[in-house]
Amino acid sequence: MRSAIPAVEQKLCTGCEQCAEACEAKAIKMVSEKARIDYEKCYSYHGRNCRACVDACPRSAIVLVE
Ligand code: SF4
Ligand code: SF4
Repeated sequence: MRSAIPAVEQKLCTGCEQCAEACEAKAIKMVSEKARIDYEKCYSYHGRNCRACVDACPRSAIVLVE
């Protein structure tokens, strides 16, 4: 079973970059002041259990989706 992967709710994202700072894999960059996840780099996408970006976001703009 694949682990859940993070998805950014664009409408809630303020571009504060806290998720990017929390991401050990350096998988998150700001594009037009919104967080964008590079799934090639994301640990969760590759089956590792990571939710650092979800926990870091003060706006709850990142959710894990199955
Ligand atoms: S789940 Fe982990 S590796 Fe993937 S984007 Fe979030 S913090 Fe980075
Ligand atoms: S921490 Fe949340 S609000 Fe801030 S850039 Fe990341 S997704 Fe957007």
